[in-house]
Amino acid sequence: MSLDPYDYLRIQIQMDFQCQRCGHCCRVADPIDIYPKDIRRLASFFNISEEEMIEEYTIPHPSETDLRAFKATVPCRFYDEAKKGCKIYQARPMVCRCSPFLSPGQIGLQGVEIYEDCPSSEKSYTRIKRDLDILLNPNTRTRKKLEKALARMMQIE
Ligand code: SF4
Ligand code: SF4
Repeated sequence: MSLDPYDYLRIQIQMDFQCQRCGHCCRVADPIDIYPKDIRRLASFFNISEEEMIEEYTIPHPSETDLRAFKATVPCRFYDEAKKGCKIYQARPMVCRCSPFLSPGQIGLQGVEIYEDCPSSEKSYTRIKRDLDILLNPNTRTRKKLEKALARMMQIE
């Protein structure tokens, strides 16, 4: 897989990222994209059919014709305020796994974003910035390590 150096930076930031569990993203994210893989995983998690999953938990995506979106957001119906966590963490959608740095659809330099409302985002980025030169010219070892990590993430069912 051929990646832009900035994609390596995003992967590295994501690997380094430590969520502070403030819950902000789960309260404001809308829409929450649902991919076909998410439907299969969530149907299995809830022990229902994929059709039931679509009907009960999703709506047509407001802008992407081949995607669905979670029904009932802002806040997300699966956010547990008391425990400050996700009630479906093991089966959560791909966009939730990738947030904040690996959002699908964003590539290259455009994908390197700092989410000002996420208290961990800027901290992570600052920590990794010192490695930017290496990541822009990744040596074989760094590249292989990051490609492996990306391949593992993409295998999630
Ligand atoms: S599914 Fe879980 S991680 Fe994703 S927005 Fe909802 S509560 Fe947050
Ligand atoms: S806004 Fe950032 S720190 Fe807060 S829950 Fe979301 S990812 Fe974690």
